[in-house]
Amino acid sequence: SMQYPEWIWQNGAIKRWAEATTHVMSHALHYGSSVFEGIRTYQTPNGPVIFRLTDHNTRLFASAKIYDMAMPYTVEQINQACRDVIKANDNTTDYLRPVAYRGLGGFGLSADTPTDVAVATWKMGQYLGASVLEAGIDACVSSWQRFAPNTIPAGAKAGGNYLSGQLVAREARRLGFGEGIALASTGLLSEGAGENLFLVFDGALHTTPVSAALLNGITRNTIITLARDAGIQVVERDLPREYLYLCDELFMCGTAAELTPIRSVDGRQVGTGKPGPLTRRMQELFFGLFEGKTPDKYGWLEPL
Ligand code: PMP
Repeated sequence: SMQYPEWIWQNGAIKRWAEATTHVMSHALHYGSSVFEGIRTYQTPNGPVIFRLTDHNTRLFASAKIYDMAMPYTVEQINQACRDVIKANDNTTDYLRPVAYRGLGGFGLSADTPTDVAVATWKMGQYLGASVLEAGIDACVSSWQRFAPNTIPAGAKAGGNYLSGQLVAREARRLGFGEGIALASTGLLSEGAGENLFLVFDGALHTTPVSAALLNGITRNTIITLARDAGIQVVERDLPREYLYLCDELFMCGTAAELTPIRSVDGRQVGTGKPGPLTRRMQELFFGLFEGKTPDKYGWLEPL
């Protein structure tokens, strides 16, 4: 079972983990009305950093805006809460989880409840399991589709979206796969349960567009930026399912999954079945940020 860290930030104060509770009649528990982020910390040769902290918390506020959820703090205050909770736990964790949600104060769907905010942290390690960054995972296409763009906005990182993610991830696990990939309501490729997708064709990176009901991932943006800076072509485009089987290389990316190669989809081997040269190159550039090898041109490594 999980060892919980000692301290958590809730509504402006650092508290003991066991004391960070909420009422069972909180709006979010019934209706999915929360927005959240997942952020990683890294120990670099120049000290501990929180990767793209401001970009993540800016997206948190964008998600709240989409749902017309009042935020009782500023981005900078939530940034500070993130730093404070890492320090309170003696920098022994590697993952941050800011969450804002409609709390107790009305049971109607349109109730103007107060927004409660918490920032938790824990040690995640490798999200998709040990050694997957080297060996890659076996993925499947889910029988569950992503929600259509005029139903639930995929561009918000909201609690309710993860009902879809749970169906995709749990089905994949039940069938013995490392992760599930969903198609959009158009039938075209969308993304993984909690990761964006990159396919390699002829030395170029191809990734699915935001119109395919996906979260515009910060890791996705990091990889696009690092690739273009290295002179690698990146194409955002609609992609049909069978291209998963035909591409030279395939990987998924996200804060939790980092940059995870995919070695097969639906039982079809991808490329050689081993992480290919462009996947390796992107892993080197990405993890190089935290090893002091890739220059931090954009101020992404925000000091603790
Ligand atoms: N898609 C979904 C559905 C996700 O939950 C995540 C993880 N936040 C991602 C993509 C990747 O986003 P990011 O790189 O910002 O973590």
